[in-house]
Amino acid sequence: MKFIFVTGGVVSSLGKGLTAAALGTLLENRGLKVSLQKFDPYLNVDPGTMNPYQHGEVYVLDDGAETDLDLGHYERFTNVKLTRMNNLTSGQVYQTVLDKERRGDYLGKTVQVIPHITDEIQHRIHLLADQSKADVIITEIGGTTGDIEGLPFLEAIREFALRVGYNNAIFLHVTYVPFIKAAGELKTKPTQQSVAKLREIGITPHILVCRCERPLGRDLREKISLFCNVPYEAVVEETDVEHTIYELPLMLQRERVDDLVCRLLHLDTAPANMVHWQEIIRKLLAPRHRVRIGVVGKYIELHDAYKSVYEAITHGGVANDCGVEIEKVEAEAIEKFGAEKMLKGLGGILVPGGFGERGIEGKIEAARYAREQNVPYLGLCLGMQVATIEFARNVLKLEKAHSTEFHPETPHPVIALLDEQKKITSKGGTMRLGRQACQLVLGSLANHLYGAFIINERHRHRYEFNNDYHDAFAKAGFSFSGSSPDGKLVEVVELPNHPFFIACQFHPEFQSKPDLPHPLFKGFIAAAHIRLHQKLLR
Ligand code: GLN
Repeated sequence: MKFIFVTGGVVSSLGKGLTAAALGTLLENRGLKVSLQKFDPYLNVDPGTMNPYQHGEVYVLDDGAETDLDLGHYERFTNVKLTRMNNLTSGQVYQTVLDKERRGDYLGKTVQVIPHITDEIQHRIHLLADQSKADVIITEIGGTTGDIEGLPFLEAIREFALRVGYNNAIFLHVTYVPFIKAAGELKTKPTQQSVAKLREIGITPHILVCRCERPLGRDLREKISLFCNVPYEAVVEETDVEHTIYELPLMLQRERVDDLVCRLLHLDTAPANMVHWQEIIRKLLAPRHRVRIGVVGKYIELHDAYKSVYEAITHGGVANDCGVEIEKVEAEAIEKFGAEKMLKGLGGILVPGGFGERGIEGKIEAARYAREQNVPYLGLCLGMQVATIEFARNVLKLEKAHSTEFHPETPHPVIALLDEQKKITSKGGTMRLGRQACQLVLGSLANHLYGAFIINERHRHRYEFNNDYHDAFAKAGFSFSGSSPDGKLVEVVELPNHPFFIACQFHPEFQSKPDLPHPLFKGFIAAAHIRLHQKLLR
């Protein structure tokens, strides 16, 4: 089994996760079985309790693990199915070591960062290796070289590589080569210093992936090679992808990164066959059609907060040979300026998941506008709950209808807590989480889109549709098209008298891939496109 450790230098946000994922794509297309793992140096046990401003989106896995958004890239770029074993935080490491200490596993010893914390980290790499049966494990270390909290992880991978041997483990360092405008030059010093910092710890990178706004050129590659002690061909240039992140595997292939990795790790495979991937890029770069989709949210200025949603919309576009322009609409702006002004002219409206009261009335208004104006609507999780509240208020005339999350005393709690959730006080990992089966109603839009009766989707929520209101809704033409197999929980709702109005309690965005667009997003973009054509014809 082979191991690739990906570290980052100079600054954060270099796209280490994307680089790791893109390398995964290339190795898979060389016929290797790959698994990817992320180490996060922060002390939270998982990102589930963190604010999107701190962390971006929380990516949910089948097994209900709440993980870093880089795991979303891993699943979209490769065929790996990840579990909670694929994301490790310092918080988890310390929790495990402290539990062992209390159990008496280290009786008589002083428990220390080295070797106890570092051993525990290495143990997690071995565990994943055993479970995944992959040929290659790519482990990405979060944070930037030089961070104090990242040190135990770097020490652990140094020891690990030494133990398994450099024929079996290599280090790939993603670094930054800034362009200084005043000098009109790319500068290599930060990279030299970042590599020196790694060497201080005992890690010599085998490959340097240099993120740069402009091509490096031969001279700079030679300079980096000489001063960083990395062979010339292992200095890789990674300029900003021009149009889409899905170009990255092709860029790395042009730089022969996968050849180099395979040579260093003595992996004998055919070159990567990327024909299928190139076709996806073609559709992304030169689509035949175009639509404009509005996403109404509360963390709109932060792209990372709804990362998987934006990606899934793009995949829906690929499926329809449609370029999608995403219009990010601040829910509070709808409250201020009105839905008509903020949403006019859009091909479709999507309300994604969310927590907390800010912007909620704006989202409810967005659902009303979509329903009344026959604009295609896709609601995800909270997006289903607001569509329900809107219908209750404006069609059933239950004016004060609400979710008890936002108005605990509402006379019409159409969205409310499950009894089992009422008793829970602890915050981490206590929501309804992960993959659950859902059965669809024959002949419904959902059934038609999925082409199936039983589907499996990932969840992350506490509140549910309140079944006391089931009959009143059904009578007024609100259709319940998906439920949990025991029939107790509402999972999908739709409006049959509308061109395309569908909302689900789960998060389909976590299971969409560029080469396997999710059926709900595929249908949504198709509906938006059809609407545009009908308007043009009229
Ligand atoms: N806040 C809602 C709930 O907990 C919706 C959650 C979500 O959209 N992920 O049920």
